[in-house]
Amino acid sequence: MRQPLVAGNWKMNGSLESITRLLDGIKAGMADVKRAEVAVCAPAIYLPAVQQQLQGSSVGWGAQDVSAEPSGAYTGEIATSMLGEFGCRYVIVGHSERRAYHAESDELVARKFAAARAAGLVPILCVGETLAEREQGITESVVARQLDAVIDLEGAAALANGVVAYEPVWAIGTGETATPEQAQEVHAFIRQRIAGHDAAVAEGLRILYGGSMKPGNAQELIAKPDIDGGLIGGASLDAADFLGICTAAN
Ligand code: PEP
Repeated sequence: MRQPLVAGNWKMNGSLESITRLLDGIKAGMADVKRAEVAVCAPAIYLPAVQQQLQGSSVGWGAQDVSAEPSGAYTGEIATSMLGEFGCRYVIVGHSERRAYHAESDELVARKFAAARAAGLVPILCVGETLAEREQGITESVVARQLDAVIDLEGAAALANGVVAYEPVWAIGTGETATPEQAQEVHAFIRQRIAGHDAAVAEGLRILYGGSMKPGNAQELIAKPDIDGGLIGGASLDAADFLGICTAAN
């Protein structure tokens, strides 16, 4: 039985004051979260503050991106070892905003996935199609290409130490959610594709849905057999909304 994971992606939002309030609110509501594992992925500069606030709680934390390189002359980048120093368990790799605005290729994302794993972090690999790609009927081939970059580099067994997040780009931050059926179809495709390499890894892999998930639609989505939680953007900035999604997995 896969334990659901609900991970918040704060993106480039918040202040020291607002994240303190947000984390106080989340911690206060955790007694009602019966089943899901909960984590927040914060802007890197806030990780020391997040670590200080969450240490000893049942809420985990992580980053939103990481360098594929171990160290060196990469101005502005952050290494996996640095995330480890601040207690990160998770790191998002290949978010569609990084693929789109920072030109991250499938190969670079796969290298980030490998670097995170090598450092003992759990990479959350984001995959998903744009609206144009869905309309062209190539959702599966896009998602397969993004997944295969990781499998080609490291083998399917590498996914045993990771998480996949299916995030249709057209549903991110738009208020438009994939229907539970649309999401389930792609999640099942992802699991089947991985099962083609390694059935045990596919069975154990947590595949999260991301894209305008809210307390009002979370239960229906998470109830689907291949949806193992959510990667939450906008709704993770409000403690009540985020907790509403975490408890939907109860
Ligand atoms: C995301 O950016 O990972 C995301 C799912 O955003 P939102 O929930 O705001 O659509």
